[in-house]
Amino acid sequence: MGKTSKDKRDVYYRLAKEEGWRARSAFKLIHIDDNFKIFEGVRRVVDLCAAPGSWSQVLSKRIRAEAKNEATKIVAVDLQAMAPIEGVFQIQGDITKLSTAQKIIKHFDGEKADLVVCDGAPDVTGLHDMDEYIQHQLLVASLNITNHVLKEKGTFVAKIFRGKDISFLYSQMSVFFKSVIVFKPPSSRSSSIEAFVVCKDYSPPPGYVPAMENPLMNGGYSEEFQNATKLNKMITSFITLGDLSHLDSDTTVKLEVGGEDYETMDAVQKPISPFYEESVQKRKNNMLAKMEDKLESISLDSPSYGP
Ligand code: SAM
Repeated sequence: MGKTSKDKRDVYYRLAKEEGWRARSAFKLIHIDDNFKIFEGVRRVVDLCAAPGSWSQVLSKRIRAEAKNEATKIVAVDLQAMAPIEGVFQIQGDITKLSTAQKIIKHFDGEKADLVVCDGAPDVTGLHDMDEYIQHQLLVASLNITNHVLKEKGTFVAKIFRGKDISFLYSQMSVFFKSVIVFKPPSSRSSSIEAFVVCKDYSPPPGYVPAMENPLMNGGYSEEFQNATKLNKMITSFITLGDLSHLDSDTTVKLEVGGEDYETMDAVQKPISPFYEESVQKRKNNMLAKMEDKLESISLDSPSYGP
């Protein structure tokens, strides 16, 4: 986000900085827990797609407080490197890759997790079908990992994009969980198609054996299994908070909260190895090709302009 857009940043963006969260997303997990008590009795958690780490911060704070002196295990996974967080073990990797899933499973060393959360989102292309498809792949990958590490009666929370084919995913979730609710936290912008599935009471079908080599939705089940588990269209409960008990995430900072005196604050934790680092260095050293230079170097009679 460039400097000129700072006035449009919303109230949760500002609150995140004030309270020391690395990203405004922290409030989404806080609101999910406030409504569904997903941290109750939880000691072992997997945080998938965790960078820059605000959900891991929330997990570290709330779960370690809840556990008091009992041991906790929090494993955070992301494609990107993350600055350390107390009490959180990090794995850098792609959650759609077998090798990453194996590392997570290995870290749990036969023990099961009480909770798996996934806030995965691809770099949005703006091509909605494509974005939804990639988002679904992350969801499928996270459900696959969940099937290996989550204990019976455990909880799974994941970000979804509410696209036209989403009912199939709800059905998929309800094969494994007794309760599947879609929740739109007040901190999630109402203009965004994002929501979260809160799946409670993990109880896979009798005889189900998770297999990484045989991913979900890819012919992993026989027709008989699909019929038996009613993998057809269904309606899932949807909860959104439309009352006035929370700040409206579409409220902008400057105009409605901070007024003219609002001062921007530094990021709580800057990215430690961002993909745009090289470009930033080049810009600083004035080494980035300027658009005018590029245009000058393209001749109108160059072959690419031919018929
Ligand atoms: N929950 C995080 C927080 O509170 O700081 C924010 C997560 S951010 C919305 C989405 C993350 O998904 C990005 O950090 C991105 O690197 C990660 N991601 C996207 N595809 C992934 C993949 N295939 N494997 C692992 N992480 C992935």
